[in-house]
Amino acid sequence: MKKVAVFCGSSLGFSEIYKNEAIKLGNYFAKNKIGLVYGGGKIGMMGVIADTIIEKKGEVIGVIPGLLRHEEVAHTNITEMIVTKTMSKRKVKISRLVDGYIALPGGFGTLDEIFEALTLGQLGIEQKPVGILNTNGFFNYLIKQLDVMVTEGYLKQTNKDMLIVTDSIDDLLTQMFNYKAPVMTKVINKVVR
Ligand code: AMP
Repeated sequence: MKKVAVFCGSSLGFSEIYKNEAIKLGNYFAKNKIGLVYGGGKIGMMGVIADTIIEKKGEVIGVIPGLLRHEEVAHTNITEMIVTKTMSKRKVKISRLVDGYIALPGGFGTLDEIFEALTLGQLGIEQKPVGILNTNGFFNYLIKQLDVMVTEGYLKQTNKDMLIVTDSIDDLLTQMFNYKAPVMTKVINKVVR
């Protein structure tokens, strides 16, 4: 994996634990020469991981929609900033750049982005690994909700199993490197995005 998208909070959260894990993940990316592709912000968890990688001379590519590009929010010291016309074009751009996706703790934006990545995998449009770094059990209730979706017949177990969940950075990246997408019974070919 050369480039990985990290979706994470535009807020820092109340506990230092989350910020520290974002720093650890940033250091892992820099050490292993994995380029970060992210939302382009300088605030919250986004800013922490971008700053960490830049400090270590790693690669950071921001993809930001024009409407968010005002100075208080957009990072000004990253390797490259790509500005898109809309939020949806940003997602497409990110998906074209990366070999996998990771979610760290965040809010609506983070969930929106990671579930879009999972949906692309579920439809067979992409075969890239999608992982959640479950620091401090932050995503436990979300995982429980996915189980409810399986037992109530709205989500296939095989599709749920595509999502890699762990609280260890090493384990997460190892699983992502070794990821094999499930064979789709109904493959949607060449969907124009
Ligand atoms: P949230 O989890 O609601 O804080 O939203 C964070 C996610 O949405 C990030 O992964 C970004 O891609 C995107 N996002 C939300 N707010 C911003 C912002 N102010 N600047 C850049 N990206 C943002």
